[in-house]
Parts: sequence; C-alpha cells; structure tokens
Amino acid sequence: MRRSRKVKILATLGPASSEQSSIRRLLQVGADAFRINMSHTDHSLMRTLVERIRNVEAELDRPIGILADLQGPKLRVGKFAEGSVQLGIGQKFTLDDNPEPGDATRVHLPHPEILKSVEPGHRLLIDDGRLHLRAEKADGKSITCTVVAGTKISDRKGVSLPDTELPMGALTEKDRKDLDAVLATGVDWIALSFIQRPEDLAEVRKVARGRAALMAKIEKPQAVKRLPEIIELSDALMVARGDLGVEMPLETVPGIQKQITRACRRAGKPVVVATQMLESMISAPVPTRAEVSDVATAVFEGADAVMLSAESAAGQYPFEAVATMDSIARQVELDPTYGGIINAQRSEPEATGADAISLAARQIAETLNLSAIVTYTSSGTTGLRAARERPSVPIIALSPVVETARRLSLVWGTHCVVTPDANDLDDMVNRACRIAYQEQFAKAGDRIIITAGVPLRTPGATNMLRIAYISADGMGGI
Ligand code: PGA
Ligand code: MN
Repeated sequence: MRRSRKVKILATLGPASSEQSSIRRLLQVGADAFRINMSHTDHSLMRTLVERIRNVEAELDRPIGILADLQGPKLRVGKFAEGSVQLGIGQKFTLDDNPEPGDATRVHLPHPEILKSVEPGHRLLIDDGRLHLRAEKADGKSITCTVVAGTKISDRKGVSLPDTELPMGALTEKDRKDLDAVLATGVDWIALSFIQRPEDLAEVRKVARGRAALMAKIEKPQAVKRLPEIIELSDALMVARGDLGVEMPLETVPGIQKQITRACRRAGKPVVVATQMLESMISAPVPTRAEVSDVATAVFEGADAVMLSAESAAGQYPFEAVATMDSIARQVELDPTYGGIINAQRSEPEATGADAISLAARQIAETLNLSAIVTYTSSGTTGLRAARERPSVPIIALSPVVETARRLSLVWGTHCVVTPDANDLDDMVNRACRIAYQEQFAKAGDRIIITAGVPLRTPGATNMLRIAYISADGMGGI
C-alpha cells in the first residue's frame, strides 16, 4: 500500500463502517487512520473496532493509527414535558436547577457549576446555535434569559457558552471511564474535546503516562486565545470546526483554521482539519463544489490530515467519501501552484541537530532529485521534524517501535515501516535501501538520503546524513 499522497485521511468509524470488511475497504480507498467517537461508542464496541482495525493492520502489513475522541464537557438541557416547546423572540426563558420536566417558561440545566458561572450579558447558544438566549439575571440557581433568535427547544439539546469560562477540567466522569478503557485497549491517540486551558492537557497526560499521544481539539474561544501554550503541551491539534463554528462567529472560522494550521506547522505538531468537509456526501454520492474547495484549502495549507465524521461513520456513502477526499488531495498536490504555496509557509529550523539535518536532507533530496528521505526514528521526534520541512519527496520513517509508526500515520508525507534497529552502519544503509525498494519508493539504481543518529540506538541524537544508491537487486545500498 504505497501512497503518493502527502496529506493523510482520518476516517471516523460508526454504524456505516464498523465491519472488518468495511474497515479494510476504507483503507484500500484511502483512509490512513481511524477515529472512534466515544460520544457514540460504548466500551464493548470500541474494543471490537480496535480489534478489527488491528486485524486489518496485520493483514495489510501497514501501521494504522487509532484516535479515541473523548466527548468532554458537552453541556445539555434537561427534558420537556411535551418533548419540545415553541418560544417567541423577546420572551423570557429560564434555565434552573429544578429537575422537573420543562415547559415554555423554563427547563432544567443539570450542571450546577454552570448555573453559578454564567453572568448577565453572556450568550447561551442551544442546538448548535439555532436558539440564541441572552442571560439577564443569574442568582447561582437559575439563569433568566431573553430569547434573541430562534424559537424551538427540545429534550437534551446541547448548550454552548462562548462567553463563560467554565469551572471544569476537560474530563467528565464519563471521560475518565472512557479514558481508562481506551488506554487499556491500546489506542494511539486521545482527542480531548472542549479544552479551555493548557492545564486541561496536563491533567490527562498524568493519566495517560505516555501510553497514547494527546490531540487537543480547538473548539472554544478560550482555547483559541491560549493557542501557543496549548500547542506547546499537546502532541497534535484538531481544528474542530463543528463546535468552533457555534462558539465563534462562523466567518472567523476559516481564518482561525489558517492560524492554527500555520502555528502547528511552525511547531512541528500534526494538525487535523475536521468536520463538515464533505457533509453532503452523508446522503449523496457526489460532493458540492464548495466542499471540494474546502478540502482543497486544507490540503494547500499543508495540514497533516483531513477528517471525515458522519460521512464515513453514519452516511450512505462512506467509501465514496474517502475516495473523493483522496482524489481531491491527490489533484491538489499535483497542481502547479501547490509546491509554491507549501513552501511559502515553511518555517526556519530551530537550532537543533535534528532540524539542521532535516533541512539539509530536504535540500539535498530536492537538489539531486532523490527518491526518498529515509529517517530512523525511535520516538517519532525525528520523523516529525523531517515532516515539518514539508519536502517534495516522500519521507520513509523507520522505527523499531510499532506505537511510533502508528502515531506517525497521521503525519504529513510520512510512510512508516516497523523494522528493528540497525546493527551497524552498513546494516543501516542496506536496510534503508531495501525498504525503500520493497515499499516501491525507489528502483534499482535510484538514490535515497538517510538520516540517523550515530552511535546507533541513542535516542534524540540525529546527527548523520548519507546518500546511498539502491543496488541492482534492490536488496541493499552502495
Ligand atoms: P465532535 O468534534 O465531532 O466530537 O463534535 C468535532 C467538531 O466539533 O468539529
Ligand atoms: Mn466538537
């Protein structure tokens, strides 16, 4: 499964795609990693999905990343006596601590800490912003609001509070249980929803203890404000445009997407662009012009991955959606403007051996038209720095650690192969050449560039560059 595409595709699994044969087919048409949405998946199904992905991974012999997405503190109103009520613009409506079913004047808000935090003037956006309330009076037990826009509210609708800093960490009780379960099952990435502060990540990192890497979902204005600190403490970011577009004015989302993508590229942290990328393909076999353009924008910006949610999890055309994303991405990457746009956003190297070597490897590979950059990386750090250079040639990341290879499956331009550490310098060159040949990135007589750390097996010491020819039989290097 050699792919020529640089950007990766992250596909959410769900009722439309949970069979092992569907997972295999999603990979064959272009998916590189899978997301399991813990808002909709119980523990037993989660374990079944992980097992099926691992089966297909073994069958296709390609490391596959699994992202478990925790629901986070998603706030919801209680229930109504009649299931739903009609409201009028300008009327008063109260959210309170009374668990009785709601009516046209009030409803339960089963989050006591929120009742205490909302202040007059704050916005309450219900049902993805379809109903907009403004808080007028708040006494700690109830919030009296005026209806500003929208007219309908029904059972268990979500509540967004873009103006209120919520006095809660990123993990609810449910998240803690989910986190333990997904860590025990061996997923590669954990996504944290609705984080507000850098401390939210520290809390989860303590529990994860290195067993999985952490992806911060940026979907609240509070997180956008503290982006640099959040990037620093995360292993990757997701531009979670669904909730972000409810919590912030919709017209600010494209700019924020660009800012986040660029900041992540600068930091060398993977960034995923998510939500409604091919939304209409939930029920149609072809996308809209605007959706094609939206996917293309993320690819032109050099995002590491683009994501499908309901399109692959619950839609009628999961395979078509992945295949569509794949063809859009491949076409964009062939476009004559693509290289120039990617290069324009390239960041200067930091003053480290790994960055200096990564920059040099890219320049040499591009100057000499080499077939691939092969990088030995045990923790994945060197692989990430190589990808940060956004080279025009493929990166082959060799790691003895399968978890590293799986995590890197989300990273731009990186083809991961699990292989034991080299025994000596000759073995290192031969192994790199053989794998480049076997994985069909190079033919006999082609040249590749290899980066590694010498002495071998010292992590974090990338300090060597070597140009090598693939031997005539493809079994070694010269
Ligand atoms: P969700 O996150 O699908 O879990 O809501 C993504 C988003 O909000 O865009
Ligand atoms: Mn969300």
